[in-house]
Parts: sequence; structure tokens; C-alpha cells
Amino acid sequence: MNKETEKTRIKKELKLLFKSMDFVCDNYLNKEGVNDDELEAFANIYQQLGLAWEFLGLQCRHWDGYRKTRDRREVCKICGKVRDIDETHVLLPSKGHKRLGRKIRPTSRKIFRTKREAQILNESIEFHGARLDVNVHNSYKSKLFQGEHDINIASERIVKLRESGIECSIGRHRIDIRVGPAKQKGSKPDYGNFAFELKKKDLKHFPVIFRFGDNLKFSGLTILR
Ligand SMILES: [Zn+2]
Repeated sequence: MNKETEKTRIKKELKLLFKSMDFVCDNYLNKEGVNDDELEAFANIYQQLGLAWEFLGLQCRHWDGYRKTRDRREVCKICGKVRDIDETHVLLPSKGHKRLGRKIRPTSRKIFRTKREAQILNESIEFHGARLDVNVHNSYKSKLFQGEHDINIASERIVKLRESGIECSIGRHRIDIRVGPAKQKGSKPDYGNFAFELKKKDLKHFPVIFRFGDNLKFSGLTILR
């Protein structure tokens, strides 16, 4: 559906919904002489209409901008949602491209006292069997490795993809690919060497193809399974 028809549809549905909400309000909730049972039933209906409002509001992209209310808040001209308030639900189209969140990077040069204060985003999603984690944090002090002194953990944005027991982690300065199960805590760490440090006969154990262009410009890796 293109943007204009989507906007028209949402606008129309919200208009009808607001009409229904006003109707319930004017004829039952704010009217004298409605008996208690009826009042409760209509209060419930009003709540349910509120849910529909929430649902439609999630689909609104606030195309027409915001207007100021009397209590100096900014609300969307179409759906009436208050600007910059965290939404508790996320709605995605079942077909086509799905977009959730935007690209966030570290926001400060400051070194924060704790990991929690430095954390900006740490979320994950399961998408058709693959798992994606995004972790963004500013710099912070940490007592890593049970050391006496604090060390500074650099700000970072790490995106991790897990599929079929393989984990690919992309950070600012390195890309790690782990094949096979994750290391148990306390187990012997893996060795790590540059290819040129390995013997040719040892290299044969690694199904890795180095990709490069002219002038030996590195352009990636292929790992065979
Ligand atoms: Zn809106």
C-alpha cells in the first residue's frame, strides 16, 4: 500500500473511532441518569475503543505533524498521540520489508561510572529462526578480570547474528565469527594467530578462503562448512 492510501485509510478509521468514543462519552459516560450497570458496561466499551486507538495509533506515521494542546504537550494531528512518549507495543507489517528502530551509535565521549549508566540499547529479536542482538553503550569503568583497578571499557556498537550454531559479531574495530558451540566459562581459551604465523600444513585444517582485489586489497572471507 502506498503512503497516501495508507494515510487516508488510517485517518478515516481514526475519525470513525473518535466518533464512536465521543458517542459513548456523550450518551452514557457523561450523561445524567444512566444506571450503574449500564455505566459500567459503557465504561468497558470505552476502554476497548481505547485499545483500538492504541492499535491504529501504532500504524500512524504522524504524517501531518503535531499540534500543541492546552497543557502544552505536542500531539499528532491524526492519531492524537503525545510526541516522544515510548510506545509499549510494536507493530510490523506481516508482508514486505520490516523496520524496527533506527541505527544508534554511542552518544557521549564521557566515561560513565557503571555499565548500566553507559548502556544505550541492548535488544534482540528472533526473526524466522535467526537471532539478532544489538548492543550499544558509551564508555564505562569496569572491574573486569577481578582486577584491583578499574579499566575503561570503550564505547561500542556491537551487532550479533546467530544462525545454525554460528555467531557473527560486528563491532567498530573487529568482526568475529564463531563456529561451533560457545565456550564454557573457565574452559581453555582458543588460540589465535594471523595466517602468516601458521605453518602451511596447519593452515590446511582451516577451510577459509581469503578474498582480495588488486594490490592485495582485502575484501573478505569465505568459510566453507
Ligand atoms: Zn499519529
